[in-house]
Amino acid sequence: MIEFKKVSMQFSDECYAVQSVDLEIQKGEFFVLIGPSGSGKTTTLKMINRLISSTEGEIYIKGQKISEYDMYELRWDIGYVLQQIALFPHMTIEENIAVVPELKQWSRNETNQRVDELMLMVGLDPAMYRHRKPAELSGGQQQRVGVARALAADPEIVLMDEPFSALDPLTREKLQDDLLDLQRRIQKTIVFVTHDMQEAMKLGDRICVMNEGKVVQIGRPEELVQHPANAFVQEFVSGAARHVGHQAFELEILAQPIAHEALLPYEAVSADAPLDEVLSQLAKHEELAVEKNGERIGLVNRQAVIQYLADSPKERGESHE
Ligand code: ADP
Ligand code: MG
Repeated sequence: MIEFKKVSMQFSDECYAVQSVDLEIQKGEFFVLIGPSGSGKTTTLKMINRLISSTEGEIYIKGQKISEYDMYELRWDIGYVLQQIALFPHMTIEENIAVVPELKQWSRNETNQRVDELMLMVGLDPAMYRHRKPAELSGGQQQRVGVARALAADPEIVLMDEPFSALDPLTREKLQDDLLDLQRRIQKTIVFVTHDMQEAMKLGDRICVMNEGKVVQIGRPEELVQHPANAFVQEFVSGAARHVGHQAFELEILAQPIAHEALLPYEAVSADAPLDEVLSQLAKHEELAVEKNGERIGLVNRQAVIQYLADSPKERGESHE
């Protein structure tokens, strides 16, 4: 669907913002770009809709070079959601969502219907919010409008640049959950930028780890945990672990109780082991016996721990939206 072939981008002669990136993003895939600040994520994203041009290499969408597409159509046909809630303040929610349909000269009727449909899709009651201004909505609601706007003309590709990172953790998690639900229904190709590994693991079908303009590793979440390409990736993965670590990670609750004898063949890990130790053990073994007070109490598998990391932190009641 989207292909990068040896793509580089230099803002100045001295250094590369993005260097020799090769990527292939599949149709319908939720593809996450992650890396520290300045690693080239935004530049990579913006090259897809030609907000930035590559200085070397080629990007293809559906097998065609993006330089061969009409630039404006390419931009309209690719949804784009930013971190800074970029709604037009003087326009109503309805008008904000209808920007691209209007550029495309849809009929009034068609546009109205689409606005209703989209607002429902992202969980905003059209009757209540249609005619409000952005300032009358919470941050989370504004970001929902941002998502609706990006989906307005039914693009096949949606680019999202840290869309939830300005939101409080509760709202953010709610939006992540809703985006996952939405993606299951509408099956867009999503390229999503974040610097948060936990978010990446929760959302991504595959994760591309970037550092200093280069791709360090691309893989499914469990592959990054299982086979981090180097210390940098490992550090990122265990960064997600540390994030969970301070809320008392309990291996015990993840362990499946099975008969004691059946546990004997497995490598053991202590129920009180810190999460990064558990992860490094799970990188080597798909399953581990959990030991408490010197006794084996159950079996834990890698998938369960990854799922736990992606879902945590939990228990916090209602969203503040
Ligand atoms: P990220 O999104 O991962 O934080 P960026 O893609 O924004 O990273 O930036 C990658 C590199 O390119 C950084 O070193 C940044 O300073 C540089 N850069 C980004 N935008 C510009 C610009 N408009 N002019 C010059 N340098 C830039
Ligand atoms: Mg950025």
